[in-house]
Amino acid sequence: MTFDEFDIDEKLLEAISYMHFEKASPIQEKAIPVALTGNDVLACAQTGTGKTATFLIPILQDLVKNGSQGTTSLIVVPTRELAIQIDQELQGFSYFTDTTSKAVYGGDKGADWDSQKRAFVEGTNVIIATPGRLIAHLRLGYVTLKNLRHLVLDEADRMLDMGFIDDIRQILSYIPEKRQTMMFSATMAPEIQKLANSILVNPQMISIAIAKPAEGVKQSAYMAYPHQKVDLITHILEQNPDYDSIIIFTSTKKLIHSIVSAIKKKISGVSVEGISSDFEQNEREDVLLRFKAKQTKILVATDVLSRGIDIKGINLVINFDVPRDAADYVHRVGRTARADAKGEAITFISEEDIPRFARIERLIEKSVDKISLPEQLGEAPVWKDIKPVQKKRKFYGPKRNGHKNPHYRKKNNQN
Ligand code: AMP
Repeated sequence: MTFDEFDIDEKLLEAISYMHFEKASPIQEKAIPVALTGNDVLACAQTGTGKTATFLIPILQDLVKNGSQGTTSLIVVPTRELAIQIDQELQGFSYFTDTTSKAVYGGDKGADWDSQKRAFVEGTNVIIATPGRLIAHLRLGYVTLKNLRHLVLDEADRMLDMGFIDDIRQILSYIPEKRQTMMFSATMAPEIQKLANSILVNPQMISIAIAKPAEGVKQSAYMAYPHQKVDLITHILEQNPDYDSIIIFTSTKKLIHSIVSAIKKKISGVSVEGISSDFEQNEREDVLLRFKAKQTKILVATDVLSRGIDIKGINLVINFDVPRDAADYVHRVGRTARADAKGEAITFISEEDIPRFARIERLIEKSVDKISLPEQLGEAPVWKDIKPVQKKRKFYGPKRNGHKNPHYRKKNNQN
């Protein structure tokens, strides 16, 4: 389906074509028509599926068609990186319209605060905000959200994981009840469903497959002891001399520095940098910019980057360890092969990571190839297939707790 088949304004179509979006992605095809009617939407879609455009295009269409007085649209996101990225995409789509937007997130520069405050006071149309910083502004009384018509909760599962539920409820208390609400989440865990039930009105539920890495990602894994991992990275890089953009993920912030220095020591002349939530905001932005510009070949990151961050042309994702949360695997791996491109993801599995990796394989419904460790690296731990524990079905006789067991009777009648 092409974008001109949606009922959207020429100004948006022109911008969409400048952005080289030709065909709508599956989530866009399903959800944009629903969102254009003003219905609430509950969408289960992982990042990399085109979910951002799915909510931005209907919001912009409403603003172009029905005018935009003051702050009409609020997009709440878990991280500042995601806020910046959505704002950039929005600036592309709204290029031929007079929609204004601002990304609002915590930082350490006073100037940021002042420019965010100005955006609220001036009634910037679309605010893309992280919960904590938004509440800080709301409490000071100058934010007017009475004209709000759209609320988006993006990566709702992540926001719940990060403990933002109370913040979200507080934010809701500041905005009109009559509005369109769109909620996006990579998983539909019961607590997401609960949140959805409490804030969406007759939502249309849209789901595009369960969270699985995109088709274009070649996934494999090595069993390895921790002391073998850096040598393994060297080996992988030697085997793939063309790769110029690589992310190495680790769950542990403390490991970032030691991985970076070990790589520097082992591979002379390689450009490698680390990034984690401990870095100052401007430091994080600079590191990301250098990586995006391919000045840095290898970025070592924690899961801060694994969700939502959209950097094109990443050839390889290495999971230095197996993420604790199976959904994080999908997010990490999703950093490569963005928007139909090809990419590779290699995971290092140590002995104690085996049960976690088995859980991931169940989530993605696929057994990932385990490649043998190169001989020069020595013996590797051995992979064991772990079957999920099956609950034994209890057999109940003709009577259960003193009552007739209907299932028993039925079964007998059938026989
Ligand atoms: P998202 O899931 O919103 O983070 O989008 C992932 C990437 O795909 C972003 O770089 C988008 O700009 C890009 N993208 C989204 N929809 C399309 C589309 N219909 N055609 C081409 N690229 C797209």
